[in-house]
Amino acid sequence: MTEKSKVIEGRTGPWEIVLGLEVHAQVASNAKLFSGAAVGFGAGPNEQVSLVDAAMPGMLPVINGHCVEQAVKTGLGLKAQINLKSHFDRKNYFYPDLPQGYQISQYKHPIVGEGEVIVEHDDGSTFMVRIERLHLEQDAGKSLHDQDPGATYIDLNRAGTALMEIVSMPDMRSAEEAAAYVKKLRTILVYLGTSDGDMEKGNLRADVNVSVCRPGAYEKYRETGSFSHLGTRCEIKNVNSYRYIQQAIEYEARRQIEILEEGGSISQETRLFDPTKGETRSMRSKEEAHDYRYFPDPDLLPLDLDPAWVKAIEATLPELPDAKKARLQAQYGLTAYDAQVLITEQARADFYEEAAKGRDAKLTANWVTNDLAARLTAGGFAIEDSPIKPAGIAELVQLIEEGVISSKIAKDVFERMWAGEGAAGAIVEKQGLRQVSDTGELEAIIDKLIADNPGQAAQVKEKPQAIGWFVGQVMKATGGKANPGVINGMLRAKLGG
Ligand code: MN
Repeated sequence: MTEKSKVIEGRTGPWEIVLGLEVHAQVASNAKLFSGAAVGFGAGPNEQVSLVDAAMPGMLPVINGHCVEQAVKTGLGLKAQINLKSHFDRKNYFYPDLPQGYQISQYKHPIVGEGEVIVEHDDGSTFMVRIERLHLEQDAGKSLHDQDPGATYIDLNRAGTALMEIVSMPDMRSAEEAAAYVKKLRTILVYLGTSDGDMEKGNLRADVNVSVCRPGAYEKYRETGSFSHLGTRCEIKNVNSYRYIQQAIEYEARRQIEILEEGGSISQETRLFDPTKGETRSMRSKEEAHDYRYFPDPDLLPLDLDPAWVKAIEATLPELPDAKKARLQAQYGLTAYDAQVLITEQARADFYEEAAKGRDAKLTANWVTNDLAARLTAGGFAIEDSPIKPAGIAELVQLIEEGVISSKIAKDVFERMWAGEGAAGAIVEKQGLRQVSDTGELEAIIDKLIADNPGQAAQVKEKPQAIGWFVGQVMKATGGKANPGVINGMLRAKLGG
């Protein structure tokens, strides 16, 4: 289980990338972190703003217990330390979309401590990303600059929405690893039901910390735990797609290498990624960094969790992706790859397990991960809304298993099922697609073929693979409905191949 560092060849020798991520995930909840205002997507501007969210004088925050439960659940899902005692701090800064003049967050004492996430590379190997902490905090509102040429409008619908900030250690070594980590983290959150992980809606976004170093330096950091072995990092704020995360990292690493190779030094700063130009730009330097003047929020009591309550939450945890993957491999004899594809979405794994009941597990996995998945993607369907249900796939697989139809004909049957022509068995009967295993009928075709092609027939004795030509001809003559196993057997008996 190792990270795969990506070496970048510079003018002065090789460099490596070191990445740590701070992921902000919106908590799945009907109400905000400290008010009863709704958090649904698509409401009109400022329709979901309570007096607390608008920071009217004298308004007091009240903690939303469900959000605390979601944070604990997420911590447990990340195999992390749950801190029974934590508290909220005020992070002070001025911004037009932050009416309080501070964000309520958690600073020194977060609700969740150290955990870990196992992440898959494309080739199926894995690496581990250590989680440093998870804390709860409020989201800010939104400034709208495109509504009026001369004014900025403020929409506070998002203000006060609960976020979980999940901070990783600098354990990723390439843009691909960073994207894979966010994907895996998202899958875990969606399984847990603690965030919908919708990146398009901005419900999951990443701040990416990028630094570069010479080969060997990272290993020294891991041995000693001392960050002094690593390069100075820059933080790229609020990147909200896997592609942008990768582009931002690639650009930023090259930018830093160029500076270092010219004898310069990296100044620690916050940067923005501009997707249209594909580059990062300085937002503020360390010197301009805010002094947040953190202090405990006097309007909120510390969180003091009952261990029994945490235990009770633990008992409600669903089977998580890693466990599900291992079980699918063990229970159904699937390859790691197939199991991985199936568990990427909980609903897909559920669909598979329902379809595979009593059926050929590998064959069922192929249909769910290939033909069905392709159709769903092309049609923009979630698997929950698939027009073909698990029982439909199971019936199709059963027809193949029992030799009623060939795999080739099954593709045609599948397309007809997708088009709404009915169930697999009914389509096979109606269209006369039943595989021809009737030896009498096949024998007549084969005998005629051998009689018409004596040269080819003679060849089979010297070159057994020449039998394939005959198989193809019989298939052609039967419109693809002949049972290949039966034809092969008959041809061998007749031609001695
Ligand atoms: Mn934050």
